[in-house]
Amino acid sequence: MILSAVKGMSDLYGSRAIRWTKMEETIKKIVASSNFTEIRTPIVEELALFKRGVGESTDVVQKEMYDFLDKKGRHIAMRPEGTAGVARAFVEHGLGLNEPLPLKTFYIGPFFRYERPQKGRYRQFHQFGIEVFGDETPQIDAELIFTAMRVLTSFGIQAEVHVNSIGCQKCRADYREKLISYFSTKKEGLCEDCRNRLEINPLRLLDCKVCDPKTRCADIPKITECLCDDCRGHFEQLQRSLTIFGVPFVVDPFIVRGLDYYTKTAFEITAITGGSQNAVAGGGRYDNLIHDIGGAQMPATGFAMGLERLFDLIPEDFFELPQVSVGYALSEDAVDQLVAFAKNMAGQPLNFFADYKPKKLKKALQKADRVAAAFTFIIGEDEAKEHLILVKNMETGEQKTFAQNDIETILGFCR
Ligand code: AMP
Repeated sequence: MILSAVKGMSDLYGSRAIRWTKMEETIKKIVASSNFTEIRTPIVEELALFKRGVGESTDVVQKEMYDFLDKKGRHIAMRPEGTAGVARAFVEHGLGLNEPLPLKTFYIGPFFRYERPQKGRYRQFHQFGIEVFGDETPQIDAELIFTAMRVLTSFGIQAEVHVNSIGCQKCRADYREKLISYFSTKKEGLCEDCRNRLEINPLRLLDCKVCDPKTRCADIPKITECLCDDCRGHFEQLQRSLTIFGVPFVVDPFIVRGLDYYTKTAFEITAITGGSQNAVAGGGRYDNLIHDIGGAQMPATGFAMGLERLFDLIPEDFFELPQVSVGYALSEDAVDQLVAFAKNMAGQPLNFFADYKPKKLKKALQKADRVAAAFTFIIGEDEAKEHLILVKNMETGEQKTFAQNDIETILGFCR
């Protein structure tokens, strides 16, 4: 029986892996240029962190967790998202006390959700995300959206920004009541989950993909009509700052996000390129999360971008794949010389590799063609006698013999 990868999880290899790495490098360069520094947290955390951080009534925690008991009976979960773990690290290491604030971090890595696999939705997927601690300003929220857009436009992707404010605990309480009384008369049209959620967490109804009240019901109360003065001012300034950053946006009063920790700013970014309607990134402000998981009151804001969805939006020929060059020995006697030559070529700019098993010239050239080598290096019997090597430019057909240790002259020929 051939074993296969776990359902919804995939391997990354070959040219796709090369392009994926280049995508990650581009992202890291962009965020480094705005002084975001990397944070790496473990793949697994205690389940309690996600229950408390992400929220017990969210789909992510209720239905999609990869959780298990470890050998000592601790309840562990594979991380479904990045914010809770980064926030846990922030509190655990006293980063708010020991590092200058605001602290600007980014992460990149795998995440796990037990969802029904389909295009753009996997059980192991990857996200790049940004988290900023100690800055309550709407300007930093705007900068995050601007940064997400910089990443997308650097890959030639056009996207649409949808922003909302979901208020603070104070104004959201009013909104909750309005939603409960609005939907109480419409229970028949709701799915079972939404009927259960109505009293516990009515905002979740706006995010439901099953009965989708957002598109089916008219005149649903809008949170933007319930915001307190502070939240309204914050939201208006966010919009002004986005305009100054040159980021077009639309206000969408029904964006609530699938995770419970958000306050004030919430946003989603949808790609226009590629016909996909799925959000490629989403995020917002979470001013209570640090406190909720045991830290001080600390404003924070962030977003996550799905890397599989991003990758699918990047045109296949966007990244130039590096060209290789390859060396062959045509006899047993020449192999040691090929080893010494490989040592001298290591680190040189030709992406040289040696194919050590001796072979006939015709076979060697066929193999060089298969790897699309830019240059082929050959040590035949005659060359070996005099420590020479034949170099062939595979595009022009031009070829020349050099002393094996004259790397400078060889590199000059290959430029
Ligand atoms: P979320 O953490 O749910 O706000 O998701 C942020 C982004 O991660 C989404 O916009 C998607 O691009 C991506 N994402 C979320 N869940 C998945 C998944 N199961 N498979 C692939 N990408 C995902």
